[in-house]
Amino acid sequence: MRMLTCLAVAAATLLWTGGLHAEPRLKALIVDGQNNHDWKATTPLLKRHLADSGLFAVEVATSPPAGEDLSGFQPDFASHDVVVSNFNGAPWSKATQAALTSFIQDGGGLVVVHAADNAFPEWKEYNQMIGLGGWGGRNERSGPYVRFKEGKLVRDNTPGGGGSHGAQHPFLVVVRDAKHPITAGLPSAWLHASDELYDRLRGPAENMTVLATAFADKSQGGSGEHEPMLMAIDFGQGRVFHTTLGHSPQAMKCVGFIVTLQRGAEWAATGKVTREELPDDFPTADHVSVRD
Ligand code: ZN
Repeated sequence: MRMLTCLAVAAATLLWTGGLHAEPRLKALIVDGQNNHDWKATTPLLKRHLADSGLFAVEVATSPPAGEDLSGFQPDFASHDVVVSNFNGAPWSKATQAALTSFIQDGGGLVVVHAADNAFPEWKEYNQMIGLGGWGGRNERSGPYVRFKEGKLVRDNTPGGGGSHGAQHPFLVVVRDAKHPITAGLPSAWLHASDELYDRLRGPAENMTVLATAFADKSQGGSGEHEPMLMAIDFGQGRVFHTTLGHSPQAMKCVGFIVTLQRGAEWAATGKVTREELPDDFPTADHVSVRD
């Protein structure tokens, strides 16, 4: 009897420690080093949000600064499950571009955060991976504008520049695909903390699902269109989660940003989302919610 009790206690202890102290099962690599945004302040937030999910061990690969030789910048994408780009800067070497393309093509995950979709206007596969991008000379040759009009996705090939935004302000993010693992179970709309609302993005938009949009109000300097905010893109055997949100540290403290980042990164890494529970502090349609 005593032996049985000991075994039961030992088994329970093993289960308990296994549950609470399990090593994160996924590996994320944040890439930064050049950005017209404050990457030194935002990368630690991205790292914290990913680690807080309990799913990811997170590493960071920081490139040399702008103006320096990038030929030696060769992050080991392939030893990770998902690459999170906080990079908007000079072109990578052909070898590094090819390494990322192969990594995603072969089934890896990519998360593109805010201005990372400004990067690499000339890199064909990158633009296929991100679906839509802005600035860097993007125009009608980059692909269509993609908007929701009367509840339907519309591709608009009107000539014009790619990438714009009005004044920063809080805005409503509206779910357009409630069945996708990243957005399933989220409120149908929530108020995102003050941020840049990217509009007029252009790109190939192939194999792309628009998960959520926001209305770029002309009174705020926007396009007057329902613009894509969160996107899921299939590229080869891999997956890309693209969030246009996250201009500043404050915008990245929005619980809506945090939860969609965590879900998007897990989906990009594995094709599934296991962190389905909605936290109590998720924003509502009327109230912004941030975590400090
Ligand atoms: Zn920005």
